[in-house]
Amino acid sequence: MKLKITALPGDGIGPEVVREAIKVLRVVADKFNHEVEIGEHAIGGNAVEAFGSPLPEATIAACLSSKAVLLGAVGGPQYDKNPRGLKPEDGLLGLRKALQAFANLRPVIVYDELIEASPLKADIVKGCDLLIVRELLGGLYFATPRGFDEENGQWTRGFNTMSYDVAEIERIAHVAFKAAEKRRGLVASVDKANVLETSQLWRQVVERVAKDYPHIKLEHILVDNCAMQLVREPRRFDVILTENMFGDILSDEAAVISGSIGMLASASLGGPVGLYEPIHGSAPDIAGQGKANPLGTIASVALMLRYSFELEAEAHAVEKAIDAALAEGLRTADLAAGGAYISTTQMGDAVCEGITGKWSTATE
Ligand code: NAD
Repeated sequence: MKLKITALPGDGIGPEVVREAIKVLRVVADKFNHEVEIGEHAIGGNAVEAFGSPLPEATIAACLSSKAVLLGAVGGPQYDKNPRGLKPEDGLLGLRKALQAFANLRPVIVYDELIEASPLKADIVKGCDLLIVRELLGGLYFATPRGFDEENGQWTRGFNTMSYDVAEIERIAHVAFKAAEKRRGLVASVDKANVLETSQLWRQVVERVAKDYPHIKLEHILVDNCAMQLVREPRRFDVILTENMFGDILSDEAAVISGSIGMLASASLGGPVGLYEPIHGSAPDIAGQGKANPLGTIASVALMLRYSFELEAEAHAVEKAIDAALAEGLRTADLAAGGAYISTTQMGDAVCEGITGKWSTATE
């Protein structure tokens, strides 16, 4: 099979982790006799510097002509004062919209080898395996009106709008219930229905959609309680269904369960082209030092193989190789708890070696 991909390394550690993920993709493709065609394009702060836009037309065109997009991360303190439209994050939000990627899937898995890397107690996180299904194209991050009121050139008020319509809620709810059918059959729908009208509608629509999935157990949970339960008893969750901003925050919190934000992958689906990226940002504090953990981006390649190309054996091979590298005791700085650690490149190499059979645990 030909794997036609667009890579968008972005800013900060983005290029470092994407380089390793592409290396792994080439190795797994080679092993399973696939051809990889990768075009690299600009997004984020570096795209503003080079092309005057965080999402150049050429980048959108390249993404839409490929089957899947692999993104690193965007942003950095040097761009914080950029005006709206020229912020790196505008490129990211614009890309998600251009790809119609309304469903963001974020698996949170606790690897046995990393239990000690989590700041939570081992008996709380052991065996945790949940999936956050986050709505990605609506709510506060997209709805209008938004902006500032000004007086004499000074901002006097800032405002955003939280809004969801029935169709937006229905389509993301279906994604969550379908995902639960292939898992443990539980959906926890997160809202703030005691305060927000959008949440009251969300709850009503989710209940209606649930009738199509009689075997799935649905619970509603308020977002503040969900934030607490995620660190108190994360194993109670199977699929967490949530709107855009709640999902953004809860998935960073859930990253703590897995030991490091550098471990977590995501897939953004719903349109013609899948978007795959680690959940972390551009980590300017460690950029250029070889300290970035590439495993979240490498795990995103596994999701890409699974969802965009339906290559389950290949996806599994990547995941097993990640497991095996960790089982060998290899750790990047974020996982090392002050102990010995290897570089970003060495971790990428270790996963490649797992795929080609160096670690016996990778081929079980
Ligand atoms: P961040 O995720 O970049 O970093 C948070 C902390 O986690 C930092 O201490 C960082 O060193 C660490 N970290 C993150 N990824 C890591 C990895 N792979 N390996 C090891 N450690 C890792 O979040 P932030 O510091 O709040 O934001 C930095 C910039 O990234 C900001 O400009 C923000 O807007 C942007 N951002 C982008 C995205 C994205 O591109 N999807 C997401 C979040 C934040």
